[in-house]
Formats: sequence, structure tokens, C-alpha cells
Amino acid sequence: MQNKFDIIVMGSGLGGLCAAFEGLRAGYKVLLLEQHNLPGGYATSFVRGRFEFEPSLHEMPDLRNVESAPSVVSYLLDDAKLKVDLLPIPEAYRVILTDKKIDVSIPFGLDRVVETIEQAVPGSSEVTRNYLNLCREVQQAFQYLNEHQDDLNYKEFLKEQGNFVRTGAATQTEVAKAMNLPKEVQDILYPYWCYLGVPAERMSFSLWAALLDSYITKGAVIPRMRSHEFACAFLDKIYQLGGVVRFNAEVTEIQVAKGTVTGVKLNSGEIIKTSQVISNTSPSNVFTRLIFPKKEVPKAALKNINGRKLGMSLMVVYLGLNMTKEELGLEEYSYFIAPHMDTERLYENISTLESHQIMQASICQNAANPDCSPPGTCIVSITAGYQAEAWDNIAAEDYFDTKQRLAERLIIQFEEATGTNLRPYIEEIEIASPQTYARYTGAFNGVVYGYEPEPWDGIVPRALSMEKENYIKGLQFAGGFSYRAHGYGSSIMSGRAAAHRAKKYLEGRL
Ligand SMILES: Cc1cc2nc3c(=O)[nH]c(=O)nc-3n(C[C@H](O)[C@H](O)[C@H](O)COP(=O)(O)OP(=O)(O)OC[C@H]3O[C@@H](n4cnc5c(N)ncnc54)[C@H](O)[C@@H]3O)c2cc1C
Repeated sequence: MQNKFDIIVMGSGLGGLCAAFEGLRAGYKVLLLEQHNLPGGYATSFVRGRFEFEPSLHEMPDLRNVESAPSVVSYLLDDAKLKVDLLPIPEAYRVILTDKKIDVSIPFGLDRVVETIEQAVPGSSEVTRNYLNLCREVQQAFQYLNEHQDDLNYKEFLKEQGNFVRTGAATQTEVAKAMNLPKEVQDILYPYWCYLGVPAERMSFSLWAALLDSYITKGAVIPRMRSHEFACAFLDKIYQLGGVVRFNAEVTEIQVAKGTVTGVKLNSGEIIKTSQVISNTSPSNVFTRLIFPKKEVPKAALKNINGRKLGMSLMVVYLGLNMTKEELGLEEYSYFIAPHMDTERLYENISTLESHQIMQASICQNAANPDCSPPGTCIVSITAGYQAEAWDNIAAEDYFDTKQRLAERLIIQFEEATGTNLRPYIEEIEIASPQTYARYTGAFNGVVYGYEPEPWDGIVPRALSMEKENYIKGLQFAGGFSYRAHGYGSSIMSGRAAAHRAKKYLEGRL
């Protein structure tokens, strides 16, 4: 085993995999270290009985045919040339708000979304279209920023992207108010808030706009072989480019001298030298646990992580059902179910395990991937947000009962809202909690949503302050806790950006 590399990537989640791949493409000697025995982090799959489950991905926006807007999917297929078989999702989502008697299925495509909302909220088409057009502008500005990381002309950018700049510090609620977006339209358009985990009152509009636009305008996709297919495709490329990958290799120390990275230490005790570490685990993990010696932890870095708010964790109930989706009466792929769409109240309820006023985001895999389970069966997964702290007072001996009680509540909520009956047909069930995620990827506090992207800590401020927050020379971050916030696309693109900064650093330009 060589003991010196140009770049060491710590963690093989999507951010880490992409960073390793891009580091190799730039011609560097790269070592990828993963504590687990397989790659992907949350981008993986697991098997129970005769079912192979997707642990995390609901969908990835597919903007391949948007002019001047190269998307993550285009990057993966056309630039990185990953071998993945992507399947289209049939519709954006069905939103069922039980207290408000709202039940609307939203198709993909701006015109069709406007039309569908007009039918549910007569007279709303103009304002809905204006709102969605603004979201499009914001999304395009992000894509421009992404493509011009090195040659950005700020003056030109500010002149051409006025709306992006004007809404840059605004919340989702502020923009909706300024545009007079009716509450009834918000009820139908807001379900994706749960993918970001911050209520509209505190949500950075830019990030929300980019997400809404990319999800509903052009469709979404999933890989046929679960998200594990992304991880394997990246890994293939890494091997092809001569990268070294080690599994069961947990980094226990990032070694630092005089504020500069010198190497890493593994759980085996082995020390490997490098001047550049890209961490796919969070700054919270790195600055509280991994920097060695402790006196090298910059006070400003601790202040930074303490000042930010950790995002939510999740609970997921994975069901392998011995009936087809047609027999069960499941027509859609994606279901957002809640009593109402008051995001502040829904958010408050995730800090307790007792509330019944919760929102779930559920999918039936077979609606997009008919052969994902054996004939005569289907797979449903039900996801709800919970703060990790909500579990603090659960004694170890009550853990499994508590998980089962909450899972049953979520299944019943799904059945009542959709008029289906799932429980008699459950052949396999697995229930994941924040503890599961903490154990599986080492996520700090079981958080799966990175830091909350409030306006002051949204993508734009994060990108602008990135260089100032480079607390240790030779240390970059990639993944859901870095500047683009969590999510498949964000983690992948943050890996590309981290490799880009690593290159600058190694060339003495950072
Ligand atoms: C249930 C669920 C549903 C989701 N749904 C969606 C969705 O529909 N759409 C979407 O875009 N996003 C979704 N996400 C979020 C998305 O999965 C994550 O944001 C993204 O996968 C995070 O990638 P990452 O690069 O941060 O790495 P992670 O997946 O967090 O992986 C980090 C890797 O680093 C390794 N590691 C950690 N510490 C060390 C160490 N010390 N040494 C070596 N290795 C280490 C871990 O083992 C892990 O492999 C979902 C997440 C969950 C949990």
C-alpha cells in the first residue's frame, strides 16, 4: 500500500465518489477511504427476503432537455459518462391534505402544472405561472454560477440576473407574499418543502425556487437498480482511472500541523500522508472528533458549526407487499400526505414522537420501475421527518416498540388518506430511524439533511464565504453538509466543486 497520495477522500457517499472521480480526472493520485464495506453512503440498496429496497432516493430531477441548463443528470451521463439506466417517474406527485379535503395529482411540465392548479383554484393561473417563471430564473442563475466557477463576471451576472439577486436574501414566505400567491396554491405547490426540511417562513427562497423548478418542470428519474447503481457506476470510473479505494477503512484522525493537513490515520492505526483531504463527512464530525491534535481545531470553525442549525433526520418504513400496486389501488408513484400544508406547524411537530399531525412523503417504486419486485408484489416506502432529539428520552428497551408504534401510525395515515389497505399484505417490513442513519453513515446526530439552509445560510452565502471558511489548509468538504446543501444532485455537484478547489490548492492558487 502506498503511503502518500495527492488527495485523500474520506467517505464514499455521492459527494466523496464524485470528488474522487474528478480528482482522478484532473490527473491526481487519489485514495478513497470508506468505513463501510460498500460504497454509496445513502445511495445504496438493501435486501429483505425477496425484496431489494431503495433506502433513500425518491427521485432526481431530469433537466436534460432544458436549453442552457446542464443538469446533474446531464453531468452524470454526458460528462462523467456513468453507465446508469434511468427510468422516468410518471407524475410529479399526488398531494392529499386530509383536514383541507385537498387531493390533487400534479403532472410534470410548467403548463400542465398551471392548468391543474387552475382547475383546483380557479383564477390562479397567471400568478402561478409568474411564480413558476421566477423559480425558473433563479434555477438558471444557479446553473450559470455552476458553469462559470472560474470565469464569473460579477458585474454581468448582477446585471442579467436581477431577480436572482433581489430574492437572494428572501424567504419562501416573503416572495409568496410579495407575489400574492394564494394560500390555496401554496397548499398544492409546497409539499416539496419536506425535501428541504425548513418551513417556508425560514426557507431560503433561492434554494426552494431551484428545487421546485427542477422537480416539476421537466420530470424526474430513478436508477433501475436502486441508487446503488450510481455508487457502482462512480466506483467503476474511479477504478478505470487508476484510483485506489479501500473499504472497512475508517478515518479516525485528520492530522494537521500548523494549520495545514499532513495526512490521515485509519482505525487500523495506519498513517497515510497527503496535503489534501476531502471530507465526505460533516464539518460537525470533523471539527469535534477528527482533527488531530485537538489544539489544531480552529476556534472559528467551532463557532461556525455551533452557529448553524442541524437539519432534520427521517424515519422510513419500507414495505414489501405481496399484492400488486394495481390490486392495492396504488396509482401514483409519489404521495405527499398531511393534515394541512402549514409548514411551520408541521415542522414543529417533528420534534416530538407524539404528534399525529405529521406529514409523510411516500413512494410506490413499482409505478416507475415495474420489475423492481417479484411478480405479484410491490414496494412502498413511507418517509416522515423527525428531529433526532425527539428520540432522546426513549429508553433502549423501548426503542423497537416505539419504532413499531410510529410505523403503524404512518401506515394507517397512508391507508386512510389513499383509501387503501396495506397491512394484511406486508411480507417484509424494515423501519429506519435517526439512529439507523447515524449508525449507517456516521451522520452527526443521525441528521440526513445537512445544515438547515435558511436565507443567511443558503447556497449563495455559503458559496460566497467558502474561501473565508477554509479554516484548515488542505481540507475541503463534499456532500450533504457542504455548500450546496443535502440531496443527490447537490452532494454530487459539491463533490465536483471540492475536487476543483483541491486542484486549485495543489496548484498553489487557493
Ligand atoms: C431516507 C432518505 C431519503 C432521501 N431522499 C432523497 C431524495 O429523494 N432526493 C435527494 O436528492 N436526496 C434524498 N436524500 C438525501 C441524500 O440521500 C443525501 O443528501 C446524499 O445521499 C448525501 O450524500 P453525501 O455525499 O453527503 O454522503 P453520505 O451518503 O452521507 O455518505 C457519507 C459516507 O462517508 C462515510 N464516512 C463517514 N465518516 C467516515 C470516516 N470517518 N471514514 C471513512 N468513511 C466515512 C460513510 O460511511 C458514508 O459512506 C434522502 C436521504 C435519506 C436518508
